[in-house]
Amino acid sequence: MSKKIYLDYAATTPVDEKVLKIMLPYFSEKFGNAMSVHSFGQEALESIDNARTETAGFFGCSPSEIIFTSGATESNNLVIKGSIRSYYSITRKSGEKPHIITTKFEHHCVLDACKLAEKDGLAEITYITPNREGIVSTKDVQNAIRPNTILISVMYVNNEIGTLQPIAEIGKMLKKINAERIEKKLPQISFHTDATQAINYFNCNVDEISVDLLSMSAHKIYGPKGVGILYIRKGTHIKRVQDGGDQEFKMRAGTHNVPGIVGLGAAISMIKLPVMQQKIKEIKKLRDYLIKKVLKEVPKSYLNGSKEKRSPNNANFRFDDVEGEGLILSLDLEGIAASTGSACSSGALEPSHVLLSMGLKHEQVHGSLRITLGKYTTKKEIDIFITKIKEIVKRLRKISGNVLSEFK
Ligand code: PMP
Repeated sequence: MSKKIYLDYAATTPVDEKVLKIMLPYFSEKFGNAMSVHSFGQEALESIDNARTETAGFFGCSPSEIIFTSGATESNNLVIKGSIRSYYSITRKSGEKPHIITTKFEHHCVLDACKLAEKDGLAEITYITPNREGIVSTKDVQNAIRPNTILISVMYVNNEIGTLQPIAEIGKMLKKINAERIEKKLPQISFHTDATQAINYFNCNVDEISVDLLSMSAHKIYGPKGVGILYIRKGTHIKRVQDGGDQEFKMRAGTHNVPGIVGLGAAISMIKLPVMQQKIKEIKKLRDYLIKKVLKEVPKSYLNGSKEKRSPNNANFRFDDVEGEGLILSLDLEGIAASTGSACSSGALEPSHVLLSMGLKHEQVHGSLRITLGKYTTKKEIDIFITKIKEIVKRLRKISGNVLSEFK
């Protein structure tokens, strides 16, 4: 069988060989617990400190503002639950609940944490609807602000359709509003972005984009799984939600994942290197070629989400009269890995909440396919994909046409 083709880099990326090499000793000879006082522990602690400094350099913040977690899911849960906890322990006004603004097309880890807080009667939540292009408007976010708003959480890049949200613009708007709120003696509003899909491609300098909280996972940037960060700007109101040890400035209890943290530091340090910046240009060129060819050569095919304001590695297509799951299975039989949406929910055959939030009809949502490229994607692989998708869509349409005519 010919080599498999991986076109699902938004789900996860392979660990870069150089990153793996740096991580390996931390599974064996450098195995210490960073909280131990002896030399094994101190060696581990020093490596964590180095990774923290490297990570802080990437985000343009102080190392003490970086909290290592198990990934974006944990970081996002900590943001929602920890902000609510902070409200009840510090700001609370009698009888008033905190208000959070988020969007309808966040990752499930944000949405489900918000829905649970609503269900438990702990918070009021506003879910902003993105436009048809998959972009949230700053004005809509601004209009949703209430006196009791404590947090705004908007993802930087949507994981299914790759659309880029106006994070710096929302941050700038909020800075002004927060300045006015000091005079009105209203609580300050923290601004969080889930930057998991943005780290490789967009400016994540926390001051330049004016965010107070930022989440990410290392496995989307050629680092290991099970490790990520939460950036917390000094002074942001947030309380820990996981109790136990004093790790991570008492913000996240639990023994450090030393190999993972070291791997995250190594992976993040590679993003700004000229070779990676060159790769990003190549990825975008290949992605543009892919979109152009598919839209031209596959009848009744469309692109979901804005063409311009999207991540350089994402193409999300819609094909009339075809089921996305059928496409994925047929592509898989040809050795091509793609996705209908996020890996976490696509196993469940649920229609994509992202595409529905943009106003697509159920049948349009079901005919969608996410292709995400990465630094190992080649032109040859894209050409094979284009050939195969043409054949598969034609075949599936023929089958569904035959089935439909049977029932006429
Ligand atoms: N947020 C976004 C935007 C994501 O793409 C993902 C992973 N699909 C997550 C959060 C969750 O990341 P993890 O599963 O690594 O915790």
